[in-house]
Amino acid sequence: MTSDTSANPDPAARLADAVTRIARAAALRPTPHAVTLIAVSKTRSAAEIAPLLAAGHRAYGENRVQEAESKWPALRESHADIALHLVGQLQSNKADAAVALFDAIHSVDRPSLVAALARAMDKADRRPDCFLQVNIGAEDQKGGCPIADLPALLAAARTANLPVAGLMAVPPADVEAAPYFALLAKLARDHGLPGLSMGMSQDYETAVLIGATHVRIGTALFGDRALATVPPRP
Ligand SMILES: *Cc1c(COP(=O)(O)O)cnc(C)c1O
Repeated sequence: MTSDTSANPDPAARLADAVTRIARAAALRPTPHAVTLIAVSKTRSAAEIAPLLAAGHRAYGENRVQEAESKWPALRESHADIALHLVGQLQSNKADAAVALFDAIHSVDRPSLVAALARAMDKADRRPDCFLQVNIGAEDQKGGCPIADLPALLAAARTANLPVAGLMAVPPADVEAAPYFALLAKLARDHGLPGLSMGMSQDYETAVLIGATHVRIGTALFGDRALATVPPRP
């Protein structure tokens, strides 16, 4: 169930296609199910983002605080209703900047970051939604808290008064994602958390069928990142 990114070079048409696919998958759920499509615009220029803004899309995702700071304040001047989601790992020393810029943080994965975000939110009097990131495939190099540590992390986040919206995960690459989505959905259910941030370009329809409330889509909207960043030949 991958979307064909090569068929249509027009980003607005790709967006419309993704919206249709998400709606179709969501309609198969037993109860009405709202899904937020986060257009992951990391490495993309303002010019690449412009067609999606013009089409009325307002939810965007970035994985680096600094890159987001350089790009979005200017775009927000013309579109005040943009919602920015941080989907990449966050260092505690960037908590202040992240709280100032983002409306949701999808990578809360350790108690020290919970503490840093709580301090930053108190100071700024601004409380972005938080998703606790789970290392759902127990991969060494991946961000996210181990499944066994999730109860303690959730307790810490609630004690610190973070607005916990749900869980987030990036399943292992090159294997069927559905079982990992199902596991994350079960963890969220067990802890009474409504939000599920899961599903990317290759598997977002599967994720929606399993209950994703937020899908994070980059290449299916903007095209391949590697190709897009190849410099022109001299
Ligand atoms: C880059 C990224 C995405 C988007 O991935 P695509 O495969 O381009 O859709 C989603 N989530 C996270 C955490 C990412 O870093």
